[in-house]
Amino acid sequence: MPSYVLPDKCDGCKALDKTACQYICPNDLMVLNKDLMKAYNREPELCWECYNCVKICPVQAVEVRGYADFVPLGASVTPMRGSDSIMWTVKFRNGMLKRFKFPIRTTEEGSAVPAGGFDEGDGDLNSHMLFTEPESVRADFFTLK
Ligand code: SF4
Ligand code: SF4
Repeated sequence: MPSYVLPDKCDGCKALDKTACQYICPNDLMVLNKDLMKAYNREPELCWECYNCVKICPVQAVEVRGYADFVPLGASVTPMRGSDSIMWTVKFRNGMLKRFKFPIRTTEEGSAVPAGGFDEGDGDLNSHMLFTEPESVRADFFTLK
């Protein structure tokens, strides 16, 4: 079931150029109504329910209607992201609340090395070489043999 925005909570990301939900949606579904400064999902039937917009919204204004086998009617599953962990709050239909906290990273923020120590390559988008190639695939080794 698609994501939807709670207009009472959404503050339009305080008029940034691009809102957090717009930035993160892999399917480019979230848009901002600049008159109201409220975001909305413009094509709910195309939503992948990836929860990215739900997790990134700084004011918890986005929710997803879960499928009945996962989230029965009247229940909810709400994530809250921290810098090193995420907290899921599960509300059952009878009002019972359960919270689960999981670590989301094993390295310090900003310490990841995307190229893994290899040369990043030529950066040419038309090249058949992928990121870090040829160094990471040891092309020199195979051509010498
Ligand atoms: S990320 Fe949240 S607060 Fe920002 S525009 Fe989207 S729904 Fe609104
Ligand atoms: S749940 Fe995923 S696909 Fe759906 S609107 Fe949010 S970010 Fe986009």
